[in-house]
Amino acid sequence: MSKLVFGNQKMYMNRESVIDFINNLKTLNNLENVVVFPSYLYLTDYSGVVNFGSQDVSNNENGAYTGEVSASQIKSTGAKYSLVGHSERRSYHKEDNNDFLLKINNLIKEDLIPVFCIGENETEYDNKETKKVLFDQITSVYNNLSINDIPKIIIAYEPVWAIGTGKTPNNEEISEVVSYIKELVNDRYNTSNIKVLYGGSVNNKNVDSLNEMDIVDGYLIGGSSSKIDEFKYIIERCL
Ligand code: PEP
Repeated sequence: MSKLVFGNQKMYMNRESVIDFINNLKTLNNLENVVVFPSYLYLTDYSGVVNFGSQDVSNNENGAYTGEVSASQIKSTGAKYSLVGHSERRSYHKEDNNDFLLKINNLIKEDLIPVFCIGENETEYDNKETKKVLFDQITSVYNNLSINDIPKIIIAYEPVWAIGTGKTPNNEEISEVVSYIKELVNDRYNTSNIKVLYGGSVNNKNVDSLNEMDIVDGYLIGGSSSKIDEFKYIIERCL
């Protein structure tokens, strides 16, 4: 049982705490399954320590876009991954399927691996609309991608109501949704083994129970990925 451990550090930490975090992370022997997503500012600090990626990418390739960071600039830091479509980008920055399509295409052009975040909100969960929401989120982007690019994408299933709240669906619900996503993508786009992560309030207390699910390939971890002791514990439990 080995799981991928992806840490979305959001806008937490400053230079000092990043350096401490990295020095502490280096004490672990095996970081093969770990990918850290720090602020753009600290991407290169992770070089040679662990795989890393960006939390977002511009939907433009280059040019006069103040404040944006392009896929090729991200690639030049040594990053291998980028998140796309995180719920905080969807809600605070009003990013939509057209943005995700452009971003995914820009990343793939640079051989970066997109980690495409999808998930239902609380009302949709209560109304049992999760699968319908995920179907729309996936197909409205994937139908416009080249079929050869679809297997290159990792999906992170993150129920919006579970992000940063301490609440999670139970294992049965997560397994059902993750297997739905895998079947949908495999059947519709002729892939065979796409990877699906679960994200939303994963921490040192629930990781062992989440690890009981074979169908889940790993986790996208927010808050707990900036707390080095918690993050190290999770990594060791996921080896
Ligand atoms: C996230 O932001 O991707 C996330 C899963 O956050 P948290 O682990 O804090 O719920």
